[in-house]
This record gives sequence, C-alpha cells and structure tokens, in this order.
Amino acid sequence: MAQHARTTELLGVDFLPLGNAPASIGQTPAPEIELKPIELPSFEHDPPSPEPLVGSRPEPINPATLRAESDALPDEQSRLESLRNRYEQDAPHTHFNTRFTNIVFGEGAADADLMFVGEAPGEQEDLTGRPFVGRAGQLLEKMIVAMGFSRETVYICNVLKTRPPNNATPTSEEARLCAPYLLEQIRIISPKVIVTLGLPASHLLLGTTSPMRALRGRWHPFPPPASAHALISDHDVNDYPSIEVMPTYHPAYLLRSYTEDNRRKVWSDLQMVISRLND
Ligand code: URA
Repeated sequence: MAQHARTTELLGVDFLPLGNAPASIGQTPAPEIELKPIELPSFEHDPPSPEPLVGSRPEPINPATLRAESDALPDEQSRLESLRNRYEQDAPHTHFNTRFTNIVFGEGAADADLMFVGEAPGEQEDLTGRPFVGRAGQLLEKMIVAMGFSRETVYICNVLKTRPPNNATPTSEEARLCAPYLLEQIRIISPKVIVTLGLPASHLLLGTTSPMRALRGRWHPFPPPASAHALISDHDVNDYPSIEVMPTYHPAYLLRSYTEDNRRKVWSDLQMVISRLND
C-alpha cells in the first residue's frame, strides 16, 4: 500500500481511492486531484468568437455521407483514420476565424467504453495536435487515472478540432459545422458512456440549453429524445448507438474554481460513470 501511495504520488495523483478498485469506491471522498496555483485557461470570460468569415451560410457535411464512408471500412481504427482524412479534406474550420497550428482530431482507444468530449483545443493542444494535454488536460488525466483507467484505454476529443482564437467558447455555428465529424467519431467508437466536459459539448450532444447544475449528476440519453434532435433527423436516429451521457464540469472550470464542493460534484459524477461501466 505504501508503494502504491508512492507510485500514485509520483504520478501526480495526490489521492486515489483506497485499493485502486473502481468497485470499492462507493464511499470514498472526492480525490485531491491537484491543488497548485496556476495560470488558468479561460472559457467563460473571453470575447465571443467572431462571426463566420464568409457571407453565405455554409452547410455542414451530411452525416449520412460520413456514415456510408465509415461503413465501407472493416474496423474502428481504419474508420477513424478515414474520418480524420475526410475532416482534413473538408476543413470545416476554414469557414470560421481560426489561426491554428495543428488539427486536434482526438485520440485513444478506437473501441473505448468511455469517451470524453471537451469543447476545443487550447494552446498546448494546438501546438502538439493532441487533445487535453495542457493544464486542464493534466487534470483530466488525473481524473481518468483516479477512475482506474488510463488515457490509452479511453477516447478523448472535442467539439471543435482546431483552436479558436483566445480560447473562445465555440459558437453554435462553429459547433454546427464540426458536429457531423463528432457524431461519426461517436458512432464509430460506440462507447458505453460519454462524459461531456462543460456546456458546449453537453448542449450539442443533448440538444438542450440547460445550465450545468441541472444537467450534471444524472444520466442523459444519446441520441437525445426526438424533440431535441438538432443534429440527427428522426429518420437517421436508428443509425446511432444508444449511449448514456454524463455531463460534468469542464476541468478548466474546476481549475478556476477548485473548491471542495466542485471537486466533490465532479468526483460524484465520475463515480456514477464507474458504476455504470461496471454494471
Ligand atoms: N479544453 C478542451 O475543451 N479541450 C482540450 O483539448 C483542451 C482544453
């Protein structure tokens, strides 16, 4: 146990549930994920993203096109690679104002049971081409480890695949143009559970505009109920797997507001996820 504690300390995990077994963590307190003064990324106070650059409103790609291309391929890995190539070719981000270095498509296990969806790459993600590697990402990784998983065994991606200027919150237009690629990532991976990190991902996938306090702490179906299908037509809905979604606070928000109460809420949401995956 002492060795385990030392190992987790070296990993930067200040506290892990005793026994490191997801099944035994029902009564564990919120883990001390990290408590260091840091420069925080901002998602709430940046100026809004500029309007799309083009005069006429571009249309997103038809999700059925992406589905057909995926279904012609033999396995999840080749489908994800093909989808990434398709994204690069279509470059929906060229319709909005973005100065990016790398496309951050997503990474992890192509057959993961657990998928995390954030909002958009930040500076470090833009530089490396990998999702959630900056400070918020390091906190996310600690959460994943505290849950008994590793980055490699889950899948991590974002609503937007390129960094918005000033880390601005994605506009609904930007999200609309990029949504078909996220939908197809979800369809290919077909996880049991999606954790949506923050409001943009939660709103996009659940077809709601409710505040996080009303969304977190309970399960939501994906695809959402018919009345909320902003992205998926009634006709197409059966082409998507039924997935349970747990919205929770974005790690960048948690870093900004690192209170016992917020940590407890996030940990409680993640414990529900662990229990559901163990069902
Ligand atoms: N925040 C996000 O939403 N996604 C990232 O990849 C990094 C920070």
